Amino acid sequence: MPAIDPTDHEIADLGPEVNGIDDVEELEAMLALEADGEDRGPVRTLIESRIEKLRAADEKEDDDPGDVDLAELTVADVANMVRGVDDAAVLRGLLEREREGKDRSGAITQIENRIEAVEGSEGGGGEVEYVPPEEKYPDLDHPTADKQYVEGTSGETYRDMWVYCETQQGELIDVSKELLGKARELMDEYNGEEGYGGDEDGTPEEVIAVVIGDGVVDLAEEAIAYGADRVVYHEDERLERFRHKPYTELFAHMCRDFDVDWRDYHEPRYTVFPATNNGRDLSALVQGELDSGLASDCSDLYIDEAMISNPAKTGIPGDSVAFDRVLHMPRPDFSGFEYSTILCIDKPHRDFHPQGASVIPGAFDLPEPDPDREGELVEHDLELPDEWFQIEIVDHDRLEGGVDLTGHDVVVALGRGIGTDPTKGIELGLELVDAFDDAAFGLSRGVITASYQFGGHVADYVSEERQIGESGQVVEPAVYIAAGISGAVQHKVGMDESDTIIAINDDPDADIRGFSDYFIEGDLFEVLPRLTAAVESGNLAAVAAEASDD
Ligand code: FAD
Repeated sequence: MPAIDPTDHEIADLGPEVNGIDDVEELEAMLALEADGEDRGPVRTLIESRIEKLRAADEKEDDDPGDVDLAELTVADVANMVRGVDDAAVLRGLLEREREGKDRSGAITQIENRIEAVEGSEGGGGEVEYVPPEEKYPDLDHPTADKQYVEGTSGETYRDMWVYCETQQGELIDVSKELLGKARELMDEYNGEEGYGGDEDGTPEEVIAVVIGDGVVDLAEEAIAYGADRVVYHEDERLERFRHKPYTELFAHMCRDFDVDWRDYHEPRYTVFPATNNGRDLSALVQGELDSGLASDCSDLYIDEAMISNPAKTGIPGDSVAFDRVLHMPRPDFSGFEYSTILCIDKPHRDFHPQGASVIPGAFDLPEPDPDREGELVEHDLELPDEWFQIEIVDHDRLEGGVDLTGHDVVVALGRGIGTDPTKGIELGLELVDAFDDAAFGLSRGVITASYQFGGHVADYVSEERQIGESGQVVEPAVYIAAGISGAVQHKVGMDESDTIIAINDDPDADIRGFSDYFIEGDLFEVLPRLTAAVESGNLAAVAAEASDD
């Protein structure tokens, strides 16, 4: 019997567990349990790929490339094997044997590339010869070529950090201010002595705010107070609400508007957007139009050097090259179990600028505005053709304000611990909410993304607007009760400023224990009704006596 029975776990929980197992037999036993249970495809893939990885590692240990029988290896095996060989003589021996044996062009290319990489790093390589894509692939059609702004530029000049300042109902939304504050901090460092001292000529680079809408000049002034050096704004009554076509065209045009006297560079060096619904849309469209990439939903940003060895980027096989002024864009991956840092790096014959990111609201602190800050306002000049407004908004309605979980004495939040009976779990949570004078009901994202079926009125309470955490609401009540929540970092950032945190969890090692004031080890289906009864009767002492004071 393996230590972990996969049928007891959600798929998202299993990733780190499975990757911690090094015993192939144990993994095979897990596979058998899963096959007898729900037999979920992604779980099978997860376990099978771990088995494959362990077997490949074993084989690699056993294989001496000098005398391995190439005929028994697939091309992929050859590729994996040569990656670990740094001796050009051994590689040449392999090449000869492959040519005399199966003579597979794929295997030969892999070995030759490795020889090139190894010899390059020994100083004998030289630059990769550049062959333009049209010559290399004459049959390719180029669907991006009809895009207005695609240029395939190389060696151009780039400056400044541009921040898209989203507005709603005539106001800058908080995340726009957060981004302005962060951009200010980054560019101050960048321009300072510890940073790059400004651009390549030593001139400080700016924070440029972009404000688009109807009657937005006052917001442009406000953007300066939050950190912008300059605000490029465009007003038009047709832009009152976000619209894909004109907003994208406008932003891209601002980035490449050369008929202005305040700038002489090709495009922004960096662009940052809020990862809101509209900001996500706009960021992808603008970065696509500008022929660059986008790191979406980032949770941090910093500018630093990056050592890159990928020959596609360096142009020199085998060598690592330092790229400076690189925007590092960390973002959560694999449901938040891992963080990746995305970099957007130029190629030798093709620039990838602006380096663009969208950033999750709340990732950075809201800065204090400085009404005395000075900056420049630039009104952007462009006739907006009618065809950009082909979609006419004939009517609109503002939805109910949503659920505000802030400002309550108590928040009761439920997580995937309700999984054995989700309807009952929510009912118990709501009963506890009702027992307090001023409490709100929240959820972890785990509940929202799970495919639970809810009965009766309970389903009305399960929606994203009740989510607490990084991509939900941030609450700081006097008492936060978390039942069946593991304490993932994305949840933690939404509640760990609460005065008193009480966690109910049947796993004594759950992460949430580390930042709870009280930890009740137990089944929430038993603990919640007792807690409700105790609150209703005013006798909390009994419950407190059972909770460990962490
Ligand atoms: P799980 O991690 O599955 O934990 C369930 C817990 O319940 C476990 O600790 C278990 O021991 C316990 N339990 C099980 N049965 C019982 C029982 N009967 N009684 C008591 N305890 C029991 N998550 C958020 O919450 N908010 C966010 O804003 C958020 N944003 C995210 C943004 C991104 C970009 C990403 C990638 C992820 C985000 N997440 C967010 C998801 C986050 O990473 C976790 O996956 C999620 O918080 C897990 O929810 P959970 O704690 O309810 O579930």
